[in-house]
Amino acid sequence: MVPSKFAYHKPSTVKEAIALLATHGDDSKILSGGHSLVPVLKLRLNDPEHIIDVSGIDSMGGIRDNEKSITIGANSTHGEIANNAALKEHAPMVALAASMIGDIQVRNFGTIGGSIAHADPAADWPAVLLAADANVVLSHAGGQREVDIDQFFKGLFMTAMGEEEIITAIRIPKTAFNKNSTYVKFPQPASRFALVGCAAAISNSDGYITEARVAFSGVSATPFRDSNVEKSLKGSVLNEGSIATATASVADGVSIMSDHFAAEKYRKHMAGVYARKALSALA
Ligand SMILES: Cc1cc2nc3c(=O)[nH]c(=O)nc-3n(C[C@H](O)[C@H](O)[C@H](O)COP(=O)(O)OP(=O)(O)OC[C@H]3O[C@@H](n4cnc5c(N)ncnc54)[C@H](O)[C@@H]3O)c2cc1C
Repeated sequence: MVPSKFAYHKPSTVKEAIALLATHGDDSKILSGGHSLVPVLKLRLNDPEHIIDVSGIDSMGGIRDNEKSITIGANSTHGEIANNAALKEHAPMVALAASMIGDIQVRNFGTIGGSIAHADPAADWPAVLLAADANVVLSHAGGQREVDIDQFFKGLFMTAMGEEEIITAIRIPKTAFNKNSTYVKFPQPASRFALVGCAAAISNSDGYITEARVAFSGVSATPFRDSNVEKSLKGSVLNEGSIATATASVADGVSIMSDHFAAEKYRKHMAGVYARKALSALA
């Protein structure tokens, strides 16, 4: 299908993009890699009169290795993230998850900013960023604010981003748990979206777990950390026994999705299977 007619804007600064958003409001849509928005436009599920293409804004690109964190520009493609040496060293699950997204074309165009703004429940980034304790940098006319990732995803295709805000970066803290992290997923065989995705990040001292962050994509309409699993792991030694105990009731109390790809009971079961896979890989 062909999208409805729209005016195309290509700002070169964040300030210009925000001014365009403020002017056109509800009639506008940000475009980044286009791998989620263009299908939506073609299906005419949304027909904005103005498209604001942020892909040419230099300050929204690049991955910077700072002293205490790694800042990923929102326009960074999944492919750039997958190949970044600092992320591979300090937060291996981030680079690993990026390498598992879609196919090479999707990885070369799709961006981390576009993915988390879209907030598809089957996307890989939410689980990984929740486990990483990331911060989302949002820019608006008055400046910038940083939102803790635990407060960012609000539901199916819903986030904490305001209508006149743009995601400009994502910060990954350099922590002991991020250094010891991994991501596994049960992919939908055609698109590679996650039917279940599990990210796990664990730090320990003298062999005892000091911090555990275990998060899921694909399982529920809102990505989540499983606090029961995390609490059970804390203070224990990561081994077959502690993993079995911690993952005995993964996603209990969570509203689980059910669709033609995977029924609720099957998804819940697979969430447990993939939590065990992730934790066993770290053990
Ligand atoms: C065949 C196929 C397979 C895929 N497989 C996977 C997969 O395995 N795993 C996975 O996680 N994803 C997958 N995707 C989705 C892919 O990762 C998309 O790239 C991603 O969801 C959206 O990123 P984008 O840069 O293309 O955003 P766009 O399509 O340009 O935008 C998406 C939405 O985000 C908004 N937006 C974009 N950038 C910003 C910004 N900086 N600030 C605020 N709002 C913004 C747009 O207005 C739009 O609403 C797949 C997509 C396709 C087409």
